[in-house]
Amino acid sequence: MVVMKRRVAVLVASVLLGLVALTAPPATARSAAAQDRVKWVYLTFDDGPSPRYTAQILKILQTYRVRATFFEVGQNVKRYPALTRRVDRLGHSVQNHSWSHPNLTRVNWATFKYQVRTTDRYLRAQTGYTPRCLRPPYGATNKAVAQRAATLGKRIVLWSVDPRDWTRPGASTIARRVLSKVRSGSVILLHDGGGNRSQTVAALPTILKTLKARGYVFYPLWCT
Ligand SMILES: [Zn+2]
Repeated sequence: MVVMKRRVAVLVASVLLGLVALTAPPATARSAAAQDRVKWVYLTFDDGPSPRYTAQILKILQTYRVRATFFEVGQNVKRYPALTRRVDRLGHSVQNHSWSHPNLTRVNWATFKYQVRTTDRYLRAQTGYTPRCLRPPYGATNKAVAQRAATLGKRIVLWSVDPRDWTRPGASTIARRVLSKVRSGSVILLHDGGGNRSQTVAALPTILKTLKARGYVFYPLWCT
């Protein structure tokens, strides 16, 4: 009963976050889910690319054969384009996290457009496609941000599991927070850039190992 209630709560939270379309797996996976109880998660990394941590994270993802989504900051892409290219070549999804990480609820339309489109341009130069997902910095969104994002052809992606890895609570705490909250359809928020992410790197093998043992599969987000 408790589990049922939690599931309902997660579903309600997903609706509130506008994640319903995102949490629906591909049709083939959906029927498989009904038959075989397949569980899935979306692993996401924000604020990169980072010369220090992105490569380490890519290596771990490769080891566990997991595909993730990287919400990159445009000005970091400009500095480290080869890293963005590498994330893309390894089969991960590369998506838009603005140009300089401002609170998008506090910028005017011209700035909003600049933040999104400049990042699009730099990402496209490395990946060959225009990202369809936009993760607003700090998760700060409102009606205006949603409307502006839609005007630029973007879907807003927030998250449902946040271990607050950026506060550096210790690798085991990061892993425990993720593993205690994760449900099928969860969008997990982690960081590969923007600061010291060594604890995130250290927590990742435990997270991936445990989720795989629990039968989860990992999907990248494309927002198509
Ligand atoms: Zn961010």
